[in-house]
Amino acid sequence: MSAPLLPGVGAHGGLIALGVMGGGQLGRMFVHAAQQMGFATVVLDPDAHSPAGLVSHKHIQTAYDDPQGLAQLAQYAVAVTTEFENVPAPALRQLAAQRPVAPSADAVAIAQDRAAEKAHFDRCGVPCAPYAVIASDTQLAEVPDALLPGILKTARLGYDGKGQIRVANRAELAAAWDELKRVPCVLEQRLQLLDECSVVVARGADGALVHLPPQRNLHRDGILAVTEVFEENLPQALAESAVSAAKSIAIGLQYVGVLCVEFFVVPDGKGGTRLVVNEMAPRPHNSGHYSIEACDVSQFDLQVRTLAGLPLPQPRQHSPAIMLNLLGDIWGPNGENPPWDRVLALPGAHLHLYGKLSARPGRKMGHLTLTAPTVAAVRANALAAAALLGIAPF
Ligand code: ATP
Ligand code: MG
Repeated sequence: MSAPLLPGVGAHGGLIALGVMGGGQLGRMFVHAAQQMGFATVVLDPDAHSPAGLVSHKHIQTAYDDPQGLAQLAQYAVAVTTEFENVPAPALRQLAAQRPVAPSADAVAIAQDRAAEKAHFDRCGVPCAPYAVIASDTQLAEVPDALLPGILKTARLGYDGKGQIRVANRAELAAAWDELKRVPCVLEQRLQLLDECSVVVARGADGALVHLPPQRNLHRDGILAVTEVFEENLPQALAESAVSAAKSIAIGLQYVGVLCVEFFVVPDGKGGTRLVVNEMAPRPHNSGHYSIEACDVSQFDLQVRTLAGLPLPQPRQHSPAIMLNLLGDIWGPNGENPPWDRVLALPGAHLHLYGKLSARPGRKMGHLTLTAPTVAAVRANALAAAALLGIAPF
């Protein structure tokens, strides 16, 4: 175990800096957490207006695989993390030759590929939806009937339901694979979802492992819409098995960093319910944003701590919370802003806007977390906020 990287002034007379690959909203919230703790930050992202680049001490504007950009990042940062799973694994390997990198290139490479990810879940003994890999005509022909109706998903580069096509039969499957340009895909059986949930865990290089309370998630059109976190948001036994499955998945990867595992709740065929794992994200997750205000340590604080080798006390949620995603759809046709003043009049409303300049349907522009002393109050305020914003009730 190497010594922890403490925030403050380094031997060079400047602040010790933490680096992040990617400048989206997750990177921005990592930067905020790192800066709060006294670190300087450096973001690598090609976009001049990236949400994280805008608030970081330093922003390196190169491609993710640019050797010079990566060399600059390694020179300035004492350790490097990532905020999106599609960062090229070779870039993380280049960085790791010089600096601690968490999560590791190997763990990210598994999370980037649905086929490798599912094989990992199998190895950990955590069930996922029945599936088949389709990367050749033979595999396409050999797909078992039991997987239909199904969802064809590209093995790589999908997010927010992109790169996914629902198929009812073999003809649709063949057409969908053509539409996805015959890239390697997985076909998943379409499950009857009773619910969805996710768990954020954080694991240190010393093996310390902590978790945030399981989140209950509502998706609309393949995009996370609402996350609810409070006691009894999920049956106790399901919540416990989600936490232990997420922990086995992290341990199986020898993971260092913050990992979010998404689950489906499905009928068990015996009148009860069971969990199947959907996918994992090797980073903080949209469903964990509530932890910023509702927990004593947020998922971004955990990312800073795991990266710097700092202690990981078990987080505690101190307020019931509901998070509403703010998609571009709620802006007016000419970019008119939603009525933030009215939303902010609600007690316990915490508005996060990511600094994106143009609102497009489906684009994640920000999120709103509501906290309250009771579940009834947080629900009432979240529904009031949704009504003000034109978000359908839940
Ligand atoms: P993100 O990375 O943003 O979470 P994604 O593009 O990786 O999304 P998935 O998590 O695979 O997408 O799927 C998005 C949503 O689509 C799920 O949360 C779920 O609501 C629905 N879905 C996905 N797979 C299945 C399935 N096998 N059966 C039923 N519904 C599914
Ligand atoms: Mg998902």
